[in-house]
Amino acid sequence: PSSQPVSTIGGNVAENAGGAHCLKYGVTTNHVLGLTLVTPEGEVVRLGGKSLDAPGYDLVGLMVGSEGTMGIVTEVTVRLLRRPQGFKTVMALFDSVGQASDAVSGVVAAGMLPGALEIMDKKAIIAVERGPLRVGYPEGQEAVLLIDVDGLGAGLDAQVEAILKICREAGCTEVRPAKSPEERLKWWTNRKGAFGAAGNLAPNYVVQDGVIPRSKLTEVLAVVAEVGEKYGLTIANVFHAGDGNLHPLICYDEKVPGDTGKALKAGSEILAACVRAGGTISGEHGIGIEKMSDMKVVFSPDDLAVQRAVHDALDPRDLCNPGKIFPAE
Ligand SMILES: Cc1cc2nc3c(=O)[nH]c(=O)nc-3n(C[C@H](O)[C@H](O)[C@H](O)COP(=O)(O)OP(=O)(O)OC[C@H]3O[C@@H](n4cnc5c(N)ncnc54)[C@H](O)[C@@H]3O)c2cc1C
Repeated sequence: PSSQPVSTIGGNVAENAGGAHCLKYGVTTNHVLGLTLVTPEGEVVRLGGKSLDAPGYDLVGLMVGSEGTMGIVTEVTVRLLRRPQGFKTVMALFDSVGQASDAVSGVVAAGMLPGALEIMDKKAIIAVERGPLRVGYPEGQEAVLLIDVDGLGAGLDAQVEAILKICREAGCTEVRPAKSPEERLKWWTNRKGAFGAAGNLAPNYVVQDGVIPRSKLTEVLAVVAEVGEKYGLTIANVFHAGDGNLHPLICYDEKVPGDTGKALKAGSEILAACVRAGGTISGEHGIGIEKMSDMKVVFSPDDLAVQRAVHDALDPRDLCNPGKIFPAE
């Protein structure tokens, strides 16, 4: 995850964390082979193994993403991947987020699978450019698409060219290839620092984590803008465009009476719009406490009762992270 400098492997497993490169490499659950768990009753159990698809029920799959509500993970066996032989990183600039989103849909529809396709809108660009991680995006730039391609060195240039052709057809105005590994790192550090940079727009922010079909990016981003106007709040957008995973950064000032409530309501309205568009309320950050009531938007009372029954089979006394995930009945 972009929180990699501070997050823990246990937290990544608990949240089934994702991130910019999940388009190609999958999320945490795709890499966890086995784990050691301290159950709510204090028993130490070993689940899974050292290879894929251990026999019996997939209890590792159940634990990954369970948000610490079924026990504490103390040890994890992960699948290691070989480092790609080469990388190419290109920044593509667009006059609108809609054009950048169309380019992303075009790339995936053409059957290509880049390592990452990340978009930042104008407000997010302003936020990062005001801070120490600035990379020099043109002033007033409406949208930037960061493209990472990796794999065997021999095919990379051809892949990048094919992607850029689609970008140009979608209206890309300028392309900048990273000139060195240092420049690539600088761009990614800038992108991964975008959440924190929201502090350059307002004293507080709350980030949402809705997911939508890629083809609905433009439509739902228009709703995000409308919600911002309705509540009088700045909303910057940074998103894993290849996965349709939106991260609207809803900026507010907790010292202004009512602002916190407005930011939370705005977040719920955005999530409801994601669900209406055929998506869901969380891509990678989980439910926790903040989104408990939003669970009712995607799950029926029967669905929730079944999930609760699974939880209660493992933690009948509600000892692990009580009061999370499930909305009040
Ligand atoms: C700036 C920023 C960027 C982020 N970017 C991403 C991103 O790109 N992708 C993404 O998926 N998420 C992202 N996140 C969300 C979050 O950082 C990740 O989900 C991360 O995996 C959480 O790990 P953590 O160690 O910080 O967990 P915590 O926040 O400490 O804990 C999260 C939950 O997991 C439980 N937990 C923690 N450790 C264990 C354990 N060992 N066993 C059982 N339960 C446990 C905790 O009780 C808590 O309920 C971001 C957050 C921030 C602030």
